[in-house]
Amino acid sequence: MDAELAPIADKVLAGQRLSADDGLTLLRSRDVWTIGELADHVRRKWHGTATYYNINRHINYSNICALSCKFCAFYRKKGDDGAYEYSVDDVVKQACEAAEGGATEVHIVGGLHPWLPFDYYTDMLRGIRAAAPQLHIKAFTAVEIVHLARISKRGGNAAGIRSILADLKDAGLGSLPGGGAEVFDDRVHDEAFKGKIRSDQWLDVHKAAHELGLMTNATILYGHIESLEDRVHHFELLRQAQDEAIERGHAGRFQTVIPLPFIPDDSELEHLYGPTGLDDLKMLAVSRLMLDNFAHVKAFWIMQTIELSQTALHFGVDDVDGTVVWYDITKVGGASTHQELGVKELRHAIVEAGFDPIERDTLYRHVERDGAQWRAVEPAAVGAT
Ligand code: SF4
Repeated sequence: MDAELAPIADKVLAGQRLSADDGLTLLRSRDVWTIGELADHVRRKWHGTATYYNINRHINYSNICALSCKFCAFYRKKGDDGAYEYSVDDVVKQACEAAEGGATEVHIVGGLHPWLPFDYYTDMLRGIRAAAPQLHIKAFTAVEIVHLARISKRGGNAAGIRSILADLKDAGLGSLPGGGAEVFDDRVHDEAFKGKIRSDQWLDVHKAAHELGLMTNATILYGHIESLEDRVHHFELLRQAQDEAIERGHAGRFQTVIPLPFIPDDSELEHLYGPTGLDDLKMLAVSRLMLDNFAHVKAFWIMQTIELSQTALHFGVDDVDGTVVWYDITKVGGASTHQELGVKELRHAIVEAGFDPIERDTLYRHVERDGAQWRAVEPAAVGAT
């Protein structure tokens, strides 16, 4: 064992919170096996061998975006080759198809469209709610929420954000995804994500959502121009925000952290290598160890691959996302972006790794299914808190 990890191992085994220095030591260490074992210990305390997946569908309503983030290969400007925007009817139709196919969730995000009015978004939610009432709608990153506050002239301040979220919730929004967080550092933001909201606004959106009783997720995009210190700082801010939600007794809080590897292909940062498999495993494990108040750590197989996600189950991960149909945001090695994994393959991968697959809905209730028909049941109390 890397001798520097010994005091950290003592803390983990005693259930004590790790410091920022501990986080940095873990990220600097090459002893990936010990880090994995420690994360696995915490993962088993929370969830035993349970491993969650869901049947969902991603809908990217438009790739037209007012911004041009350097790391992004998704956005287009109006009139560009490949630029598109779906009508409300198109989105509702796709959601209905997903529901008919047995999906429990639609995950809806898009670019910051300069001209679509706020009604487009509420009509979309209401349309889906009316046509497929059982489907959970997880939609709009914090970046989109601030954009909606601005285009509806409510401003990007706390009051504007809260009022937008309240209207979206009223129209059918069920929870927020965790995208748009990137790395909470102003230097990195100004260099790679110029114009995109900074950490304070991203956190304001999630805190307002928690107050309104909405569950949310959090991401961290790593392996580009950020430092290891930036990654640890990101974990600290997330942990602090979750502490606040818990202490204030909000009905909403963060459910899951999703560490996302930066994929350089076709972006303005194409000259970078992007993270390696070992970096992926270490980030997943350190997320589990640092975020002691987050219930779940997800490997997003579409970016990390199903093979690495399988291994990651031994590195603190308890969730492998879903069957993910039509995911347009990220390409892996230039491959088709329309990716899908059958439930059988997903379950097989989990079982082969030595874990127990459990289908969940968005709120981590267990799903009992008869073909495309399903119902959610509350799980027996699991794990640590
Ligand atoms: S990352 Fe999001 S905000 Fe930035 S250019 Fe891409 S779609 Fe637009």
